[in-house]
Amino acid sequence: MEINLISDTVTTPTKGMLEAMMSAKVGDDVFKEDATVNALEEKTAALFGMEAALFFPSGTMANQTAIKVHTQPGEQLICDHYAHIFNYEGGGVSFNSGVSCKLIEGHRGMITAQQVKAAINPPDFYHSPMTTLVSLENTTNKGGGAIWDFEEMKAIKEVCTANGLKFHLDGARIWNALAVTGEDPKIYGTLFDSLSVCFSKGLGCPVGSVLLGSKDFIAKALRVRKVFGGGMRQAGFLAAAGIYALDHHRERLKEDHRKAKEIEAILSEKAFIFSVSPVDTNIIIFELNESVLDTNAFMDKMNKNNIRLISMGSGKLRLVTHLNYTDEMHSHLLSILNRF
Ligand SMILES: *Cc1c(COP(=O)(O)O)cnc(C)c1O
Repeated sequence: MEINLISDTVTTPTKGMLEAMMSAKVGDDVFKEDATVNALEEKTAALFGMEAALFFPSGTMANQTAIKVHTQPGEQLICDHYAHIFNYEGGGVSFNSGVSCKLIEGHRGMITAQQVKAAINPPDFYHSPMTTLVSLENTTNKGGGAIWDFEEMKAIKEVCTANGLKFHLDGARIWNALAVTGEDPKIYGTLFDSLSVCFSKGLGCPVGSVLLGSKDFIAKALRVRKVFGGGMRQAGFLAAAGIYALDHHRERLKEDHRKAKEIEAILSEKAFIFSVSPVDTNIIIFELNESVLDTNAFMDKMNKNNIRLISMGSGKLRLVTHLNYTDEMHSHLLSILNRF
């Protein structure tokens, strides 16, 4: 039995999801004639109280499209130094948009309104890049699945409004945040100019992200998606998985969170663990006590037991729980950790 906890993207479609995919009504989405893609876009837009939506092959392309629409070359965006758009999108912010990132050292990937305000370049000081966009991430990936306090995001929105800045949310794992807070997703539509969500993370789809915004924004995003090569034809087979996931896989995220908490509890007691970051959702980031057990020895032992996890650099290791991580795998992992 392999226990793969490198990411929540390693899931395969369930039987129900595959059936929904195979019976999807499809058309050519480049002509906007795929009924299932249109239905997923409408459903997701309505869920978040946004005017319009657009289906993408990846979260990276959805984020990069949003940045491209919101900015002009030479401008600057503000984000946390852990941000996915800065660290894990291949330098796309500069490559695609000619934009630089003003990185803020936040707490677990989250920044404050005060920090954002201080990071804005004065608009009339033509020596520095013009600040035009603020991008947040919820939950934070490198920050260990941390959930934003909505009030802080609201305070940042006020800073954006006062300074004429656009406001984007990378909501790849927003489903995990919503499963914990119980917030009405519509409050996000009141705050952000654009929001990207992933179906291939916690929701268990093989492919797919959606970008949300105003009608005008999405019309521009459609053109950029074309330029990036993201126009797909009978994409309804993939969108059907997204619709199925919205209807069937949101509630169960609580189970991934419970399992992550149980792993956290065991790791926290162990002498070979130096520290475990607080677990809010499905991501567990921890550091080994290298004087007791070094990383190579730990990884060796995990490999021998068919357990896969990844290193996040600077001595940090990451486990992510997900749809394909069964109860049986969970009790097996807990017993192995207990015997360490
Ligand atoms: C996974 C992820 C994305 C998008 O990744 P893709 O692999 O391109 O779908 C964006 N932001 C965050 C925070 C992520 O974790």
